[in-house]
Amino acid sequence: MNILLLGSGGREHALAWKMAQSAACEQLYIAPGNAGTAAHGTNVNIAVSDFEQIKAFCIDNKIDMLVPGSEEPLVLGIYDFFKADAALQHIPVIGPSKVGAQLEGSKAFAKQFMLRHQIPTASYREFDESTFDEGVAYLRQHPVPIVLKADGLAAGKGVVITSSHDEAVAEFEEMIRSAKFGDAGKKVVIEQFLTGIELSVFVLTDGKNYKILPTAKDYKRIGEGDTGLNTGGMGAVSPVPFATGAFMQQVEDSIIRPTVAGLAKEGIIYHGFIFFGLINVEGAPYVIEYNCRMGDPETEVVIPRLQNDLLELFTAVQHGQLDAATVAEDPRAAATVMLVSKGYPEAYEKGKAITEVPSPTKDQLVFHAGTKADGSKVLTNGGRVMAVTSLAGDLQIALAHSRQTAEAIQFEGKYYRRDIGYEFIS
Ligand code: AMP
Repeated sequence: MNILLLGSGGREHALAWKMAQSAACEQLYIAPGNAGTAAHGTNVNIAVSDFEQIKAFCIDNKIDMLVPGSEEPLVLGIYDFFKADAALQHIPVIGPSKVGAQLEGSKAFAKQFMLRHQIPTASYREFDESTFDEGVAYLRQHPVPIVLKADGLAAGKGVVITSSHDEAVAEFEEMIRSAKFGDAGKKVVIEQFLTGIELSVFVLTDGKNYKILPTAKDYKRIGEGDTGLNTGGMGAVSPVPFATGAFMQQVEDSIIRPTVAGLAKEGIIYHGFIFFGLINVEGAPYVIEYNCRMGDPETEVVIPRLQNDLLELFTAVQHGQLDAATVAEDPRAAATVMLVSKGYPEAYEKGKAITEVPSPTKDQLVFHAGTKADGSKVLTNGGRVMAVTSLAGDLQIALAHSRQTAEAIQFEGKYYRRDIGYEFIS
């Protein structure tokens, strides 16, 4: 099978590493990829949003499966683009249709969907320019803290949590009237603040059946102790110690099954990953958000713990036969620590030489994110540079190994959090 994977992050390196191990994998191409993905296939210089070039590449290279890694092509409708084109419609796309991707692409769509299917989530209202005054009045009487969310994709920055009514009104006005998040913020969801601990749950679905993948918890803030600005993610652990069998049963019964059944009932085509961003509120799971793809850096701990042949699972998705598959999890714990460039998530420099990267072992993998090859050298090429994943019988040991390697890898301006997984360390 010839596969085209779209994306260039640590997630895509982990997916490429895994798919390349499958006996069914003949040619693996990654567009645009990074210096790490090049070890498992061929990088192709095409942007994930350039559908016409993707089409030409798929035809020229006899691609048999398209695997979009990131949300951008999915929300732009790459599934529908393939299915509407006679030259491409035979190629399975592992991802949702454009409407299905709205679970991530529109917070208001996701909230309405959850309401229709009685899926537990924070109570909310949505407002736009035509209901601006009503929105201000709603905010003024809302208990604090207040959560404001730009409706559309805002590069992970569209959520504001404030404990002041004046600040909430000012943010609301900036989003709707000053286009703080561009078109993404023309509609705003205002929701109840939930208190609890978050986790990420992933399923792979063929639209009818689903399989639950290993759980994970990521760490979004730049600073130790969960302080400072939000980032794309600074590290992750898997499994999540508090995601017990009883808790996961609640997640499956009240969230996963109604989501997959709700999509099917509404005729929304969805053949791919669903990411459930959950919060455990006194033992009960609530949905904070849906994503229409795997998370990053969660993929860097979830995929190494998945013992299945990933292409076999994708083929089962293609044929609507996921019910026949059994997911096998490595019993070991996995931890990943992200190395980032100094200054990230604000301004940072690129082009720094990276050295002392160890070779992969059965217990440790280094997944590249923002890197690029320059002859025989590897240079930094983004804010999040590489994720060091370790596997061990015990989470503390996995974390310690990742920290040791994070310390050993060298590039100018390297920063990483030393406290990933802190809640789970005795
Ligand atoms: P989102 O982009 O919807 O995942 O929101 C980003 C982050 O904001 C989440 O990971 C949570 O930490 C926080 N958040 C979002 N919605 C809520 C909520 N209703 N209550 C508490 N925290 C929230």
